[in-house]
Amino acid sequence: MIVDTESRLIAAHGGELVDRTGDRPDDLEALEAVTLTSRELSDLDMLASGALSPLEGFMGSEDYESVLEAMRLAGGLPWALPVCLSVDEAPAGERVALTDAAGKPYAVLEVEQVFDYDKEREAQQSFRTTDEAHPGVARLYEQKPRYLSGRVTVFERAQPTFPELALDPAETRAAFAERGWRRVVGFQTRNPIHRAHEYLTKVALETVDGLLIHPLVGDTKSDDVPAQTRVDCYRVLLDGYYPSDRVLLSAFPAAMRYAGPREAVWHAICRKNYGCSHFIVGRDHAGVGDYYGTYDAQLIFDEFEPHELDIEPMFFEHSFWCRTCGSMASAKTCPHPADEHVFLSGTKVREILASGELPPEEFSRPEVAEVLIEAYRRA
Ligand SMILES: [Zn+2]
Repeated sequence: MIVDTESRLIAAHGGELVDRTGDRPDDLEALEAVTLTSRELSDLDMLASGALSPLEGFMGSEDYESVLEAMRLAGGLPWALPVCLSVDEAPAGERVALTDAAGKPYAVLEVEQVFDYDKEREAQQSFRTTDEAHPGVARLYEQKPRYLSGRVTVFERAQPTFPELALDPAETRAAFAERGWRRVVGFQTRNPIHRAHEYLTKVALETVDGLLIHPLVGDTKSDDVPAQTRVDCYRVLLDGYYPSDRVLLSAFPAAMRYAGPREAVWHAICRKNYGCSHFIVGRDHAGVGDYYGTYDAQLIFDEFEPHELDIEPMFFEHSFWCRTCGSMASAKTCPHPADEHVFLSGTKVREILASGELPPEEFSRPEVAEVLIEAYRRA
């Protein structure tokens, strides 16, 4: 592990944590404005905070091509997904203002390049499919036709959905260092945490100093559980079942891309920037529908030499309560037949909760189930 000498935590991807925040320029009013989508705005804010280190702006064609073809930046550093800004045409000036849909400016971009791209090719390389029923592909196909690249300086940070959970990479790193953690495992989630995921976060925590529960709170599909409900679930779970001095809950501001395997690598690299030395990769990480094989998001890590990513992926099986073992287990650790396992499909869980009943305690902590039942009642 390459270590940041001051904090003794893992070093940021590429060595230095990037900071692209800066002052609002005096000539802002005179600059041409480029409107960003909500996904591009969340990427912009992650560029500002260094969550996307070593990137300092939206990608140029060399990095873009190299990422699509080889999962590396042009300089050779591993990188799994494009971080690009789409535009209709090349701006006239050397700098542009980046705004949201309402016209509010957030940043200035120093124009480096405007280039054409092939949406179907990007879809195939990033998402392994060109099917427009895939939510990530659909969003890509809606983009403007060209990419604008350049370094950004962000003077207005995005309004966080959960201000009390908004920690930049420098802040999570400071929190880890303050607690004396050196080895920290990151857990990405966009779902409420039931017993199965509680189990694997705790198995991981047994081997390291601390756990960062890092739910994604940027854009998700409309049928995912709303972020507010999920955050309420995490709070009651942490209050009741995790030691507070070993766990940090913070929000990951990224938008979901649903790129499966490549997004798993991308998620790991981002968490490295937040100071995590380890990262949990479950089955079908960042997947959607049946576009990806169950273990594709784990196998993709074999395409890198272990030292290249530096952050250590921790692979997990699906876990469950086994009545014979009398404990949580997985196919790796339990020899008993499936009818000994307490397993509920997502559909079944939703049915139980919607009817106002508690799922079995072996499946879900009652406090978490209560939050979900209440959310169903309100909906
Ligand atoms: Zn068993």
